[in-house]
Amino acid sequence: MAEAFLAGSGGVEEQAKVQVRDEFLELVEIDAPSWGEGEIAERLQKKLDALGAEVRQDEAGNLYGYLPGELKRPPILLSAHMDTVEPSKGKQAVIEPDGIIRSAGDAVLGADCVAGLVEILQGIRLVQHSGRPHRPVEILFSVAEETYCEGLDRFDFSQVKSRESYVLDLTGKVGSAALKAPTLVSFQVSIRGRAAHAGMEPEKGINAIAIMAELLGKIPQGHLDAETTCNIGTIEGGQMINIVPELCTIRGEVRGYDHERVMGIVADIERLAAETAESSGARSDFKYKVHIHSYATSAEADVVARFQQSCRELGLGGELTETFGGSDQNPLSQHGLQGIVLSNGMYKMHTTEEYTTIEDLWQGSRLVASLILSEV
Ligand SMILES: [Zn+2]
Repeated sequence: MAEAFLAGSGGVEEQAKVQVRDEFLELVEIDAPSWGEGEIAERLQKKLDALGAEVRQDEAGNLYGYLPGELKRPPILLSAHMDTVEPSKGKQAVIEPDGIIRSAGDAVLGADCVAGLVEILQGIRLVQHSGRPHRPVEILFSVAEETYCEGLDRFDFSQVKSRESYVLDLTGKVGSAALKAPTLVSFQVSIRGRAAHAGMEPEKGINAIAIMAELLGKIPQGHLDAETTCNIGTIEGGQMINIVPELCTIRGEVRGYDHERVMGIVADIERLAAETAESSGARSDFKYKVHIHSYATSAEADVVARFQQSCRELGLGGELTETFGGSDQNPLSQHGLQGIVLSNGMYKMHTTEEYTTIEDLWQGSRLVASLILSEV
């Protein structure tokens, strides 16, 4: 039957599309905000059990499954995240006659990343129905990807056997893949001056807002070069209009493909803040956090060649791109898994206009099946 599934023929294709549609509807109905994935994890665990995978859940909530295979090829790891961004409560899907599945509008749809979860599950089913020998597969359904991959920060990578990974978590029609993603660092700068009565003795104060304004003029923003950006996203300061403000705080981010360059810019901002504060008799306080670390997978790598061959066989585009957002592939690369992020048919994610299509869910399942069966 799955031979026909993979070939996409006639009534079998119709049946498979009903299956992916129904499973998608079943899973999006479950509320799964970051760090609130308990119920969806329980449902997915049952589904993985039914597929014959050895499944375990770690303390963070990440689900890890291993499915042995008869094909004497190295295992591959397939991953998608279980959490969805806000507004995440009460997700409701509306199916249109052309096969588009939209959010009813009060919450996100959750195709990011339920589409990925469904495609992985259905892809494995297609392989099993085919009865063909396949390579061993590891499945990783993570928690809290949307909060900068916090879930995988707490995952024990020593149990992972694969050296290659496919993360289903990229916008667009099924059949493209991103080979690289940036480092993303957030930072916070506080300037502490001195409060004084604004009318009686302003000369005794040190105006933190004025010093911050001077500093902001020195921090470059927007595109710093072709592959690096900087943004100041929030500012807070002062208490009352009759008080010289003592404290002003900004928060921002730097992202870029070159990790060292990003870290250099973060260090520059810290230095500029210290110099600017000091020259006005104020103090600066600087904090930063590296949320994700950049990676770049070679277009020549086997993990890419396998994807491209599968796309050719299935009549999918096979385009190679890059993303300026993070995904679980960032921590996977950090732990030595060479991998790419596959487009899984989600559109306008992180908005209440998010949608996917039944066609994409089906094509994504075929692609997953083909990767598992591949001898590349
Ligand atoms: Zn996602």
